[in-house]
Amino acid sequence: MTTPPVCDYTDSDYQASFWDSGGREYEDRCEAIALKRLLPKSGKLLLELGAGAGRNTPRYAGFERVVLLDYSPTQLEQAQARLGRSDRYIYVAADVYSLPFVDGLFDAATMIRTLHHMADAPKALLQVRSVLQPGATFILEYANKQNLKAILRYALRRQDWNPFTLEPVEFAKLNFDFHPQAVRGWLTDVGFAIQKTLTVSHFRLGLLKRLVPISILAGMDSLFQWTGALWQVTPSVFVRCKAVGRDSIPPRVGRNACPACASAAGTGERSRRAIPPSIGQNDILSYFKCPECEHAPLETVGRDSIPPTAGSKEKNSYLTCPSCKRKWAVRGGIYDFRETIH
Ligand SMILES: [Zn+2]
Repeated sequence: MTTPPVCDYTDSDYQASFWDSGGREYEDRCEAIALKRLLPKSGKLLLELGAGAGRNTPRYAGFERVVLLDYSPTQLEQAQARLGRSDRYIYVAADVYSLPFVDGLFDAATMIRTLHHMADAPKALLQVRSVLQPGATFILEYANKQNLKAILRYALRRQDWNPFTLEPVEFAKLNFDFHPQAVRGWLTDVGFAIQKTLTVSHFRLGLLKRLVPISILAGMDSLFQWTGALWQVTPSVFVRCKAVGRDSIPPRVGRNACPACASAAGTGERSRRAIPPSIGQNDILSYFKCPECEHAPLETVGRDSIPPTAGSKEKNSYLTCPSCKRKWAVRGGIYDFRETIH
């Protein structure tokens, strides 16, 4: 099912080796500043794509509920250990190229340090747009190939690839840097309007990070972030977009719900904009669609509710698609849509 290839962090100690003991406090602080500037103050349901071990998740405190999505269940287990298991956080292991959510579900989404691993970035962005409501906010961070270091290396002939051309550069397997103009084009094509651009991590140099206190470097970066509106030569770029361009598309019952099940799913309109009026375990089921045939709603088998809370006996819990009969496991409070079970 997974095409294009997905970068899998299963069993990776990324959080510990890269963030906790990898000298990345400067980058983490800069990202926190950028996120604070770009995030809506409040909201209902935020989708965090590439949530990993939940490093950024506490920064979404203004939202009533956060769905953490990652391809790796082990990363999500680390996030659970950090954030706990409650109705506030929903953990979903899935492929970004076939998201298991009904259209127009979320009023916000973030994708930080994740596009970096996308072999087909436009396809992933189209999926994100589909699950957002019109007017929703999408905050995207991407790695910028047109950064100062790459420009200098290219000028000194120490680097083969051209930082000024639009195609992505894969500098390591499933690690891509993108040209800002290319990313802007993809976002516009799939139905986003770019509202703000911040450049981040201006001083990502080992020597500087050793010599200058991190708080001072982060403070300087904070000032320089606003230059993102003018040019982008930092290794990391944040953009805030608004979901537009699809309001005129009439709701299609068949998009997420087969006609026979439309009454069970509510109308097609409800399927497209299924923000639950109140938060409860049964509402979570209404979030999902079949990632294979797009049918919604899915069903739980042998249970009348999904147990995401600690202490539940959920060993045999699974979701099933009434249309194509595929099944997906719910293990340890993680909805696992990566592979079907039999
Ligand atoms: Zn199905």
